[in-house]
Amino acid sequence: MAGGGDKVDYVFKVVLIGDSAVGKSQILARFARNEFSLDSKATIGVEFQTRTLVIEHKSVKAQIWDTAGQERYRAVTSAYYRGALGALLVYDITKRQSFDHIPRWLEELRGHADKNIVIMLVGNKSDLEDERAVSTEDAKEFAEKENLFFLETSALQATNVENAFQTVLTEIFKIHS
Ligand code: GDP
Ligand code: MG
Repeated sequence: MAGGGDKVDYVFKVVLIGDSAVGKSQILARFARNEFSLDSKATIGVEFQTRTLVIEHKSVKAQIWDTAGQERYRAVTSAYYRGALGALLVYDITKRQSFDHIPRWLEELRGHADKNIVIMLVGNKSDLEDERAVSTEDAKEFAEKENLFFLETSALQATNVENAFQTVLTEIFKIHS
């Protein structure tokens, strides 16, 4: 930031949740490092990654938490949710089951997180249109009913990943600045 050193005005914690293999870690890799890998490992071992961006002339550090495989054992702990101001609730548009589990994730999230938490429902792998198993309409309807933001993304093609985080962070900014 010009002349501003690396002063951070806000730190916002955002969590990624959803079934295993829906693409959470690749969405994060795309957002934090602009990287993507087709054979990503289930466990990374890093609790969170950060990226600092400017929102309305303020420096906002997004601290994005990724589950390291706990989703398999339904063992996401309350520490994971603690202090989270935003969440990306991710399913895979080619895996119906990952969408059917969204209400459970939402319930768990709402049971643990800040009551003002900003939630974005994310249908990932939009590049695999030929294998689509969840219609955009169904997801949109669910999101409206539950008061969630909604976008379909592709971590592979870098579609809407930036948009998803920007929307959540800007909304958090409006609430907490
Ligand atoms: P996680 O378990 O939710 O963290 O899922 P990963 O990020 O590890 O991704 C699981 C698999 O899906 C990996 O093989 C990824 O390369 C792949 N994947 C992730 N995002 C996309 C995407 O947008 N499109 C496609 N085609 N594959 C993806
Ligand atoms: Mg992962």
